[in-house]
Amino acid sequence: MDLNTRVIHEGQVHDPATGSHVSPIYQTSTYVLPNFKEAVRLNQDVNAGFSYSRFGSPTVAEFERKIAALEGAEAALGTASGLAAISIATMSKLGAGSHLIFGDVIYGCSFTLFTQILPHYGVEYTIVDTTDPEAVKKAMRPNTKVIYVETPANPTLKITDIAAIAEIAHAQKDVTLVVDSTFASPYLQNPLALGADAVVHSATKYLCGHGTALGGVIAGKQAYIDRCRMPFIQCFGSVLDPFAAWQIMQGMKSLGLRMERHCENAQKVAEFLEGHKNVTKVYYPGLPSFGKYHELAKKQMRGFGGMMSVDIKGGQDGAATVMESVEIISLATSLGNIDSLIQHSPSMSHFDMTPEERHAVEIFDGQVRLSVGCECVDDLIADLDQALNKIKL
Ligand SMILES: *Cc1c(COP(=O)(O)O)cnc(C)c1O
Repeated sequence: MDLNTRVIHEGQVHDPATGSHVSPIYQTSTYVLPNFKEAVRLNQDVNAGFSYSRFGSPTVAEFERKIAALEGAEAALGTASGLAAISIATMSKLGAGSHLIFGDVIYGCSFTLFTQILPHYGVEYTIVDTTDPEAVKKAMRPNTKVIYVETPANPTLKITDIAAIAEIAHAQKDVTLVVDSTFASPYLQNPLALGADAVVHSATKYLCGHGTALGGVIAGKQAYIDRCRMPFIQCFGSVLDPFAAWQIMQGMKSLGLRMERHCENAQKVAEFLEGHKNVTKVYYPGLPSFGKYHELAKKQMRGFGGMMSVDIKGGQDGAATVMESVEIISLATSLGNIDSLIQHSPSMSHFDMTPEERHAVEIFDGQVRLSVGCECVDDLIADLDQALNKIKL
């Protein structure tokens, strides 16, 4: 079946108890167990049923089946946030003395997890430009256990060749390639089909789509997901709440509709911004001026997405003028909502990097990140135009 049908129907449950078309929210912490033998079995076998909502719940399980189907994975695990998914996906494969390779442009808190938290537990790391497969190959060590790639990358939208990195990962025994595919959503890209071992999403973003819930998900092989569930999520405790899972699932039904509009609007906004006198550069995979990333995006994605970054003339002051002058677009962190959002990556999403680290990877002081929503694109362009024209150079 076509993706547009699958995104609506995959894994959907019509409640067998009442016939309710939309499945209920199982808002319960625990489950009544029929007898002692079953109590023991359900507590010890993660996939046999439900015993306590930290180990799994029917509402979250429905969300997990949907994601597994859309990502072509054997299994999936819902988590409390995208960061919980990233922590568990990587930490379940890393330990003292092991080595992690990750991209030089990734979500700010992922960067902090890898540079400030994991080293505390003896994990070594190397930061590389994952868009250069040769650099990844050179960074490999005998103790490398995880390669972590974000593509498209937050915030500069660099595209990494997932298939090329998978080949490097799998040339060595026991290396897991984890891809953060949040910016693409399962609608535009399937990393597992390109050779990745695991895909993670911040479900807070495009999957939910309406900014009403936090959530995350990991998808991959059954054995890997089982281990992520038990003991990792069971003991980290960063479980997805049933109500949040339910809200994300309602949002996911319109993922296809929204992504089509996000892509269409973002392409027009990017082309407009590229021609504006107060813009120096637009980072968007759909623009031919994005060079090798544009070519790679055409090859590995089904569309270019709704995210872009923009270098504004006048540095941080110019960026501030635009962010404070837009009227339809909201100054807010986060992304992937049906409404457009704008933020300043250097001081908001990526403030944990030093200025030197940021500038080296093209996160410049006058850069804003734009999450292009589903409003009428002419209104968005007019809003950006009036805001950009307020800059005094
Ligand atoms: C937002 C985001 C995250 C973190 O997700 P949360 O749900 O906020 O924890 C991770 N990766 C990317 C690319 C993101 O945009």
